[in-house]
Amino acid sequence: MCRENQRAVTEYRVNKMTGKLFILSGPSGVGKGTLRENALKNFSNLVYSISCTTREPREGETNGVEYRFISRDEFEQGINNNLFLEYARVHENYYGTLKSDVIQELESGKNVLLEIDVQGALQVREKMNDSILIFIAPPSIEELSRRLINRNTETQHDLNIRLANAAKELELANKYDYIVVNDDLDSASRKLQEIFINESR
Ligand code: ADP
Ligand code: 5GP
Repeated sequence: MCRENQRAVTEYRVNKMTGKLFILSGPSGVGKGTLRENALKNFSNLVYSISCTTREPREGETNGVEYRFISRDEFEQGINNNLFLEYARVHENYYGTLKSDVIQELESGKNVLLEIDVQGALQVREKMNDSILIFIAPPSIEELSRRLINRNTETQHDLNIRLANAAKELELANKYDYIVVNDDLDSASRKLQEIFINESR
């Protein structure tokens, strides 16, 4: 992974970028993944950047599809080689976006969608200030908790961490360009589509 990406990063040229970068954030279980899937079906010029993570794959997840599942050593090597556009420790694991992936897509004229946490989103905003930050908020903490429990993908320990982090993440929503409340899924999908249409290049 690392050698190939290092070459791409060296060739990085800011002024050749033509696509737009969209960032989706929000607490775990709010529906980011569901909304993202809907958006990708509707916009052919929008591509999803697959993140790297050190967390274990969930049942049904495939390396290279939902994430690149890599070891902690590999991730730290990526940090040391400056391969990440952003990275953060989230819910006790590392997650990060490779620079090379995003830059190549933007330069080819594609709009790129990242689904990353608030720490990562704010790092990207520092580096690429014309990126569009969209925060997905739950209708209530009770509903968020219900969705996470019903999804049935986390241990009790992980569920507690994710719900505790949700409150901190919600406090940072005001740093985003848009806040979309995911109450009714169709209505939230429509609002998101309007943002993509209005902000795309
Ligand atoms: P995230 O990617 O933010 O962690 P998911 O997309 O996995 O969240 O959604 C968490 C759970 O909530 C899933 O089971 C999903 O089907 C469900 N869900 C998503 N949006 C809604 C909604 N508007 N109303 C009810 N359930 C929803
Ligand atoms: P999950 O483990 O549920 O897939 O994701 C947990 C959290 O990590 C979510 O808030 C998700 O947006 C965030 N995340 C996923 N990929 C990245 C990434 O590349 N960078 C950062 N900073 N956060 C990420």
